[in-house]
Amino acid sequence: MTETPKQHVFQAEVARILDLMVHSVYTDKEIFLRELISNASDALDKLRYLALTEPALTAGDTAELAIHIEPRVTERALLVRDNGIGMNAEELVDNLGTIARSGTKKFLEQAAADKTGTNLIGQFGVGFYSAFMVADRIEVVSRKAGTAEANRWVSEGGGGFTIEPLSSEDAATTPRGTSVLLHLKDDALEFMEDERIEGLVRSYSDHILFPIRIAAANGEPERQINSASALWTKPKADITPEQYKEFYHGTAMMFDDPAVTIHYRAEGRHEYTVLLFVPGSRPFDLYDTNRKGRIRLYVRRVFITDDANLLPAYLRFVRGVVDSQDMPLNISREMLQNNPMVTAIRKAVTNRVLSELKTLAEKDADAYAKVWEAFGAVLKEGLYEDHERRDALYELTRFHSTASGEKQQRSLKEYAGALKDNQTAIYYLTGESLDKLKSSPQLEGFRARGVEVLLLTDPVDNFWVTAALGFEGKPFKSITQGDANIDAIALTEGAATPAAATGTTPELIEALKRTLGAAVSDVKTSNRLVDSPACLVAPNFGPDRGLEKIMARQADRSVTSPILEINPGHKLVQRLEASRSGDKAAFDDLAWLLLDQARILEGGTPDNPGKFAERMNRLLLAGA
Ligand code: ADP
Repeated sequence: MTETPKQHVFQAEVARILDLMVHSVYTDKEIFLRELISNASDALDKLRYLALTEPALTAGDTAELAIHIEPRVTERALLVRDNGIGMNAEELVDNLGTIARSGTKKFLEQAAADKTGTNLIGQFGVGFYSAFMVADRIEVVSRKAGTAEANRWVSEGGGGFTIEPLSSEDAATTPRGTSVLLHLKDDALEFMEDERIEGLVRSYSDHILFPIRIAAANGEPERQINSASALWTKPKADITPEQYKEFYHGTAMMFDDPAVTIHYRAEGRHEYTVLLFVPGSRPFDLYDTNRKGRIRLYVRRVFITDDANLLPAYLRFVRGVVDSQDMPLNISREMLQNNPMVTAIRKAVTNRVLSELKTLAEKDADAYAKVWEAFGAVLKEGLYEDHERRDALYELTRFHSTASGEKQQRSLKEYAGALKDNQTAIYYLTGESLDKLKSSPQLEGFRARGVEVLLLTDPVDNFWVTAALGFEGKPFKSITQGDANIDAIALTEGAATPAAATGTTPELIEALKRTLGAAVSDVKTSNRLVDSPACLVAPNFGPDRGLEKIMARQADRSVTSPILEINPGHKLVQRLEASRSGDKAAFDDLAWLLLDQARILEGGTPDNPGKFAERMNRLLLAGA
């Protein structure tokens, strides 16, 4: 008895990906094979791992774990089959009808911007669905390990797919695992040719640890077409850069050139081999909130998990494998959480990655600058998460500053080497963009003294600076918080005189406080202003202006009123002083405009834009 196939629609994201695939003008359609082989290999890994604790899954089945490729010339089709974990009906619906993978949304957004999705397919790999670049109809038959039922999934792309259970007789003869039958499009018939397939396997999938066999058309026995050797077990000297790169592409599913390759064997208390890569570009899931790494843990060449957190979250961009000699094979993923061996490996590998980055920074500053450009914002998370390695991380940081060029960033060592006499802190300013930061009035007094200020534009900067203890004995200090304490630093020759030197009347300060009321927590004469009439700073204790703004954006937190610092040398402030004893309304207008202007310079808006416009207009008309 056969049931009628059940109709299903694809999740909207899948439909969009399929649309991209079907209309793809992407020339490297061949990557579909790499994706199917990678899925087959994952399915074999999963089965082998589960069978360690649940031998019944493979009981009675002595077939070698392998991937088979079968060109079917008369059917104009290509079959890719594995005897891995398989999928039941529900899993077929979930796995081949929706997309669970994070980052897909971003992929789709970028693909929409790029219309054809041309570059992105190769860059991200879109998994199973890429097969629709070469096939107009795909049939998947799968039997899950440990179950007797088998199901057939069929789709011609478009809006949906069908699923039907096989009859019990058919199911009984269906081997465990998954077979994917691709009915090839007219322009994709090349993928039935042995040589073409073999070439693809060699260049994309040679690193797969299970044998990949191809059925010969003429009835000869199957041939293995990959070397199925674990690259990391070979001596470094025997590995070519191309082999490393191919391995990186295959395991990381990243298709750029790795920026750093780290390959070594650790001996001693624990024995393990490490082959890691720092990618040459940002992985698309770098900013996912789960902050998960992707290092693959093997035990004596058997894949265990890519979820063992072998590196801290701030190194989540690193890809590759760690293969342990001494861990028990049947270690459960739960046991990995608190395993002392994992802890020891994690510690050593983390240190090694940081020291390799440091070496690169010393040997090839330009190459390192690119790594920092891509991953600096993530590495900086370590500055407040990993106290133990904070000093090592400081050495890796690079910053834009008032002394850096457009491209070249400065190290803290360089900053420390350029300290002025009497300079007591490492000064910084946080904000959204370099351009905005550079026009901050708060910088003026520092410029006049030739004091370098770090310009920090990553959101994470607002956080690590608060936990930072200092570098080479100098604390980090925000230039928008508290007293600037820079009077003791000499002005550079020819610099304009900063505000404080010109003095101000206590009466003006009192008058401003009365007018502005609770909008400011204090009014002071500034020593950090030269050209601008006023600026805002945060009180001595508590968050600086940058962090304050971020916190205010998050939920119902009210912002502490800032301190208004004024520049008595500025004509506008002098006008205020003069109008203090005259028309009260005119004084108030000027006072509020001064405050609103300081808010705008900070990237904010006047509290009450309507009133701001009114005051501005009154002033303009009065002057007309
Ligand atoms: P990804 O492999 O990146 O998760 P895919 O679209 O290629 O994305 O596959 C989706 C899911 O379908 C896989 O995560 C896996 O659970 C399942 N799958 C695909 N191919 C197979 C297979 N040959 N055997 C078992 N499960 C598979």
